[in-house]
Amino acid sequence: MILPVMAYGHTILRTPCTEVPADFPGLAELVENMWQTLAGARGVGLAAPQVNQPLRLFIVESRSTFNQLGPEERARLFPDGAGIRETFINPRITAVSAEDWEDEEGCLSIPGLWAPVRRPWSITIEYQDADLRPRRRTCAGLTARMIQHEYDHLEGRLYLDLLSPLQRKLLAGKLEKVRKGRYRAGYPIK
Ligand SMILES: [Zn+2]
Repeated sequence: MILPVMAYGHTILRTPCTEVPADFPGLAELVENMWQTLAGARGVGLAAPQVNQPLRLFIVESRSTFNQLGPEERARLFPDGAGIRETFINPRITAVSAEDWEDEEGCLSIPGLWAPVRRPWSITIEYQDADLRPRRRTCAGLTARMIQHEYDHLEGRLYLDLLSPLQRKLLAGKLEKVRKGRYRAGYPIK
């Protein structure tokens, strides 16, 4: 089932999320609905608070982005493989690189906006997968960026928080439109 995506201005996007208990009822169904919602919105990542669930859970799909790129961009943006399609439950980022880089980001909760965001180049993350098995992964490049963006949602943070005051000023008018519901998205949003 495709779920509506909460738009910028909704308080849940600013609420730190809580751990997913192992016996959380309907976890498999929620994860499946999130994958359907992500596919419907043609997105690359989705966090549980974006579908109104204040839980430490997100999904990332960077394989489709890898498949769309030419060989030079693949080598540059995907240094450690062909991307991932993964569910992250109760994740903790345990290390980040000193090296950072800037790239454009958007967010399904902030339709129609993109901005360059500076983030660490690589990260290590510990989490449980969709079967609640403990996992540990080190990623770099675009996959690491997508993971960090979704991870921030669990802390009640948005990529907007990482922009300079000038960048925020330039986006203020558009953001106000999103907050007032004056936007068009190709997917259900509220
Ligand atoms: Zn987002």
